[in-house]
Amino acid sequence: MSEGATKKEDKPRKFQAIRGTRDLLPPETALWNGVEQTAHEVFATFGFAEIRLPIFESTDLFARSIGAETDVVSKEMYTFGGFAEFSAKVREGRMVGTLEEIAPEEMISLRPEATASVCRAYIEHGMHALPQPVKLYYMGPMFRRERPQKGRYRQFYQIGAEILGGPDAPAIDAEVIEMLMTFFERLGLQGVRLDINSIGDKNCRPKYVELLRAELLKVKNKLGADSQRRIETNPLRVLDSKLESEQAIIEKLPRIADHLCQDCATHYATVKRQLELRGVVYRENWRLVRGLDYYMRTTFEITAAGLGSQNAVCGGGRYDGLVELLGGSPTKGIGFAIGEDRLILSLQESGKAAPLQGRDVYIAWMGEKAYATAIRAAKDLRATGFSVELPPIKQKFGKALGQADRLGARYALILGDNEVSEGLWTLKTLADGSQQKLTEPDLLEFLREQKPVSS
Ligand code: AMP
Repeated sequence: MSEGATKKEDKPRKFQAIRGTRDLLPPETALWNGVEQTAHEVFATFGFAEIRLPIFESTDLFARSIGAETDVVSKEMYTFGGFAEFSAKVREGRMVGTLEEIAPEEMISLRPEATASVCRAYIEHGMHALPQPVKLYYMGPMFRRERPQKGRYRQFYQIGAEILGGPDAPAIDAEVIEMLMTFFERLGLQGVRLDINSIGDKNCRPKYVELLRAELLKVKNKLGADSQRRIETNPLRVLDSKLESEQAIIEKLPRIADHLCQDCATHYATVKRQLELRGVVYRENWRLVRGLDYYMRTTFEITAAGLGSQNAVCGGGRYDGLVELLGGSPTKGIGFAIGEDRLILSLQESGKAAPLQGRDVYIAWMGEKAYATAIRAAKDLRATGFSVELPPIKQKFGKALGQADRLGARYALILGDNEVSEGLWTLKTLADGSQQKLTEPDLLEFLREQKPVSS
């Protein structure tokens, strides 16, 4: 082996973010913060309060709520071993820390979604005793080991809300959708389309599913492998299929709207009327289903422009059975989850750039005496809300101005020993190169009158 090759091997490994994860960098992070701030504001106007949840939970919580046989739970969760695996590692000296710290007694998983956690928290903290319904929202990362592509990541971010308890009045369904549309409108999201459907309840849906299964069996050999499998496991999911060759067949299948029981039909009709009262434009989509048993009645999905095949920015629905399934008392529930990554992608595609994050003032100081004054000026300006860059080491004048330019600063405050002894500070406007000499109070006053770009 040549010497060169040995050297190459000795070079420290350069790490990269794990596949399906990514760094969110400035200036894009400003757009993320703006979106999240808007969510806080809009949701608060509808009476929602924030809940912060753990990133990992008992694997069993997800298995029971989402369903052990679903793709999410059976294939896509990041799950960590239980007590036995951890204690073996500790015995072998492969881990540090006490057993209690690192050896949970049960399997835990990174959360693939947060509805189950919100319901767990509702039960755990006895929130049924609060005035009902309880309206909560959350935001944060979720984890699913999916095949990464544009708009699909293994660590992605959701902003979601849940309404738990109280009645199952259609007005609640309509209001939560109205809140979503208000949020998207405030953000200026383009090409927003709302699809709604009702998938019945435990009285009418099983009969419809059987009918669907019977009809699907008749055309089984014309379907693709995935759909053929789903005839047995979850026939409703066949309706989701995007496979071109199946579209004509699916169009002829029985539609759930024709098989809803009276209560579900009335509920659905009222949801639609309530949406109209609120001026919310929707499209009925009988093929919009949720594969999970606890979902019932209202389901909805929102798509937006510029996202290609992964164009759903939000999914939601009613899940009156979930709290009970997790050991609570019978509790009505409805909620949604917005895919924040896709929301941001769509905003960027339609030209919404992150707000400008340049500095307001770059302090070009020269000399020790001037440095003390520069520190004081920086403190005063920052207290007023300006973004100030104070170079930590001495710089030549030309270099300082070049740096101010690269940082997108609006002004350079020039402080040399002359300025300090004269008591007249020089302020250079970088856009046009104009300069003015001002006393310290006049200069601070002048800058205060300008709106900080960082605000
Ligand atoms: P779900 O929890 O599956 O109903 O998804 C709700 C929303 O989260 C979807 O409409 C997407 O916008 C988003 N989402 C789901 N999975 C991913 C993923 N792997 N990467 C990015 N966004 C996702």
